[in-house]
Amino acid sequence: MKKPILVIPCSGIGKSFGSISRDATFRVCDELRPGKADTLCLSLLVMGDEEARRRVAGSTCIAVDGCTMECSGNNVERSGGKVAAHFRVMDILRENRGLRPRDVTFLDADGEKLSKILAEKITAKVDELWEAQP
Ligand code: SF4
Repeated sequence: MKKPILVIPCSGIGKSFGSISRDATFRVCDELRPGKADTLCLSLLVMGDEEARRRVAGSTCIAVDGCTMECSGNNVERSGGKVAAHFRVMDILRENRGLRPRDVTFLDADGEKLSKILAEKITAKVDELWEAQP
């Protein structure tokens, strides 16, 4: 039986890039692919929560990171999970140089646009990984 693809955003709350990674993840899991994609709180992994580690180890994971620190990707791997795909907000920003998000608490208009672009990319990967499951 197919299992939801686990999309795990970084938890950056003081950086607009971290906010974009979370917002894009919620778009995918709640609006675009409910049932096919699910998420969990990265802080649980960081704290070593057993249930969170079990879910990560038993799922196909997509890490979504705000910056080069790659907190999500690193913690998924440290928790015994395998990162099947890795998205970085910095890369989306490089591909869309006209967009400059500034607000770190709420997404401004450019942050919203970047979140939608990122969510579409994640969704395409969710579909690909979903189909690849036996
Ligand atoms: S990847 Fe960057 S933005 Fe995200 S939690 Fe880590 S340091 Fe913060």
